[in-house]
Amino acid sequence: MKAMILEQPGSPLKAVELPDPEPGAQQIQVSITACGVCRTDLHVVDGDLTEPKLPIVPGHEIVGRVSALGASVEGFEIGDRVGIPWLGHTCGCCSYCRSGAENLCDEPGFTGYQIDGGYAEKTVADARFCFALQSERSDAELAPLLCAGLIGYRSLVMAGSDARRLGIYGFGAAAHIVAQVARYQQREIYAFTSPGDDAAQQFARDLGAVWAGDSDHPCPVELDAAIIFAPVGSLLPAALRALRKGGVVVCGGIHMSDIPSFPYNILWGERVVRSVANLTRQDAIDFLALAPKVPVHTRVEEFPLAQANQALQALRNGQLTGAAVLIP
Ligand SMILES: [Zn+2]
Ligand SMILES: [Zn+2]
Repeated sequence: MKAMILEQPGSPLKAVELPDPEPGAQQIQVSITACGVCRTDLHVVDGDLTEPKLPIVPGHEIVGRVSALGASVEGFEIGDRVGIPWLGHTCGCCSYCRSGAENLCDEPGFTGYQIDGGYAEKTVADARFCFALQSERSDAELAPLLCAGLIGYRSLVMAGSDARRLGIYGFGAAAHIVAQVARYQQREIYAFTSPGDDAAQQFARDLGAVWAGDSDHPCPVELDAAIIFAPVGSLLPAALRALRKGGVVVCGGIHMSDIPSFPYNILWGERVVRSVANLTRQDAIDFLALAPKVPVHTRVEEFPLAQANQALQALRNGQLTGAAVLIP
């Protein structure tokens, strides 16, 4: 099979030919039809995340068809359309796993980071961490739901069900999905982008944001909650300043530049700062059931698998509107 691999962080992905991976007892083999490009992939490739298996096939927004079954797999048939997300393995026995917080597992395995992922024609994955995808949407349109959608959804839940005025900082793949869910839940969206990014601001308005503007601009209202998707630490004090008393700032990314110091009085008033890490399988079940009801339409830009480096560069440069998806 063809695959794009990372041999060393800081270097471009390399196109290689690998043997088809064989499924273990609990695994399914999946013929990949689409794999989304997530900012986390960029952090792995750039070396911001320091524990990759090397070489690694990146990619954790995988859609494909089951092409072989391990001996112990239950619940999947050959030909089923499945999604494979970031959470690829948990220990099942640590205190987090036992308390419904498997996203915080002490011994996790993540797809496209410690487990070979979706920048390839085929992959294998533990069937217990895969999800059947029943939808009329195309494979490419579904791919971004597997991480941008799931992490975005978890971030939205952490923002609180009573957060009506919601700020979103960074309007890329995750934000464009979250905005649709938030609108469906009758929340007001205030979208902040890099100063002067008119295309992203228009994109936010097209998706129902009541206001969109530059991130260095004060918010026109007091927010109940804010979600930061951009990996920019200076947005955290900016978001805190926009928040009402008791409001929450959710950091939705896996990596962020350093957060500058800020005066205590912008946190005072029981404002909360928190991060969101990974996903639980229950998040996936909940979100994949909700998405068709909204319904979530993803805007995707397709790249051939061999152009994975160009897709990553487009994401790095902020040149995408919506999500990049690799097509093997
Ligand atoms: Zn665990
Ligand atoms: Zn991701």
